[in-house]
Amino acid sequence: MSLVDIELRGTVAVLTIDHPPVNAGSADQRAALAEALAAIPAEAEGVVVTSAGKHFYAGSDLREFDRPLASPQLPDVLRLIEDLPVPVVAAVSGLALGGGLEFALACDARVADSTARFGFPEVTFGILPGAGGTVRTARLIGVPNTIDLVTSARQVSAEEALELGLVDAVVPGESLLAAATEMVRRGKRVLRTADAPGVDRAAVDEALARMPRRARPNVRRAAEMAVRGAQLDGDTALAEERMLFDELRATEESASLRYLFFARQDAAKALRSKAKPRDLRRVGIVGAGTMGAALAEAFASAGFPVRVVDTNEAALDRLEPPVETAVSLSDLADADLVVDAVFEDMGVKQTLLRELEPVLHDETVIVSNTSYLDLDEMAKVLERRERFAGLHFFNPPDRNPLVEVIRTAATDDETFSTLGTVVRKLGKTGIPAGIGDGFVANRVYADYRTQAEFLVEEGASPQQVDEALVACGMAIGPFAVADLSGLDIAWARRKRLAASRDPRRRYVPIADWLCEDGRFGRKTGSGWYRYPEGARRGEPDPFVARLIERNRAEKRITAREVDDAEIWRRVLGTMVAAAARLVEDGTARNARDIDVALTEGFAFPRWLGGPVRAFSRLAPGERVSALAEVFQSCPATFEILEPAARGVLPREVEVLLSQVV
Ligand code: NAD
Repeated sequence: MSLVDIELRGTVAVLTIDHPPVNAGSADQRAALAEALAAIPAEAEGVVVTSAGKHFYAGSDLREFDRPLASPQLPDVLRLIEDLPVPVVAAVSGLALGGGLEFALACDARVADSTARFGFPEVTFGILPGAGGTVRTARLIGVPNTIDLVTSARQVSAEEALELGLVDAVVPGESLLAAATEMVRRGKRVLRTADAPGVDRAAVDEALARMPRRARPNVRRAAEMAVRGAQLDGDTALAEERMLFDELRATEESASLRYLFFARQDAAKALRSKAKPRDLRRVGIVGAGTMGAALAEAFASAGFPVRVVDTNEAALDRLEPPVETAVSLSDLADADLVVDAVFEDMGVKQTLLRELEPVLHDETVIVSNTSYLDLDEMAKVLERRERFAGLHFFNPPDRNPLVEVIRTAATDDETFSTLGTVVRKLGKTGIPAGIGDGFVANRVYADYRTQAEFLVEEGASPQQVDEALVACGMAIGPFAVADLSGLDIAWARRKRLAASRDPRRRYVPIADWLCEDGRFGRKTGSGWYRYPEGARRGEPDPFVARLIERNRAEKRITAREVDDAEIWRRVLGTMVAAAARLVEDGTARNARDIDVALTEGFAFPRWLGGPVRAFSRLAPGERVSALAEVFQSCPATFEILEPAARGVLPREVEVLLSQVV
């Protein structure tokens, strides 16, 4: 069978798209569609379009977007549908996304089964729907609903699509073809030539107001296009929309978002080793604290039966059904996966593992959610080390999509690919990581935060640093984050590591002083900022300013003006230095995984593609001088950047840059 098959059934031609895995649009698929539409038998009184696989037509192949698109382009194919003298009905099951939804909208009617889902993901790739998505949708369901669908990129169910009027009927799967065939009788209804729907200003303003305050320019332009298109004739509106699509497709922002899409896919592929994953049904979690409790919910909402064990019954009280609770490890005997989320302490964890293993069946996979401890060291107390690995979630694990999957020296392929499956079932983004203090994301973030403190030491205020980074696209600055997550945990860790700290490394003691004063951040009403009763945001605190001055005085540092551009250059260069070290020592596979980690786990702006990709976009001279500045900020910490001080791009950074093109 070719990509598109035509079969005459009675008086209706059934056109079946067969382009695995998800019937995505591509040059070949469009050519096959155009050919099929030109070959509709003359006796056919109508056409039904359906799919061979699970999905109707799930978006377009983004690999094509880096080059000029091949002919026929999607608008050409859609025009063929509209120009057919007979009605065309889309019979939709599974996903109809992006170009797929645009295809369905160019048909004269749409029937769906209950598995159907519709949506316009385009804005998440820095573009807008470019084959009538804004124009035809507005003519079918009005401008405000179009703004919502196009700018939110959300998927709507068959039921909601029916309510909205996006589809004409929803029927059981087995009657889909029959219902579509029946609908041919309704005749042609070409949205392109329908009257411009016009604009209800108040409703449109309301829809625009629901868009996120910091929506990217392409999202705003998509909304504006929906409004404009509703006031123009169909052909003019479609031409404008296409021009805008081509313009946005060529932007650096869109290229970065596509880069990240492929980087996430590539990481997911790396987590699917050749070995067959084990079948996991029941999940056990030990520790019902901050992470354990939220993880239990995440697993339960992904459909896993979950049982949580904690020695502290009060911690268990917070959990709600369907999560089951228990106080004894023996209650985890039937678990296929057990997650360690107990205190971050090697002794506690090893004791737990020693007691846990004998109560489990031989196939159970055990993972630790440790943030910093050595997993090989932990594994030493186990008999079945091959079934043990790290599965590092980020706080809050019900909302943060990143998971690092960490192999120990003994983890086997089956375990590794089982964890890849777990990550996918949880709907998370996984990256493979090696053993190393803080693994990947936390390591890069720790250096980033340290650099932010250096900048404060030199003359910036915490507020200036936070604001400068937010202006560059970070969701929130590092000092505000520290206050939000609490300064005490990092303080405890610094105290533990104090004895082994390299004295050559520059150390900023201000956070320690804040903690010594009981200022642990938001939860205590003050940290890097102060939080008066009821304040939504922190306020600069003169007390903190005095500590900063005291530190400068002790270190004989004369405060200087630090401009915002330097702040960005230095944190970016710092993240690149950290990334270079991680790839060099094998903790991270490559720069792409690191860009995924920082955009998913730490809200680094996606539209910049991640820190390494963003850095790669600086002019060559600027890259070297930024790295030289970072090196100067602490030569002992940033040894790897030493060549930059001599005007040479370090080899390790060159390697990284070659991975993000
Ligand atoms: P937490 O202190 O909030 O909770 C730990 C829980 O474990 C407590 O409820 C405690 O009663 C229970 N517990 C301790 N020993 C136990 C034992 N032997 N048997 C049963 N229950 C026991 O800790 P947390 O912040 O949830 O961290 C848990 C793990 O997750 C740590 O390894 C930590 O490094 C890691 N982690 C934490 C975060 C975070 O931001 N909090 C993020 C990523 C990873």
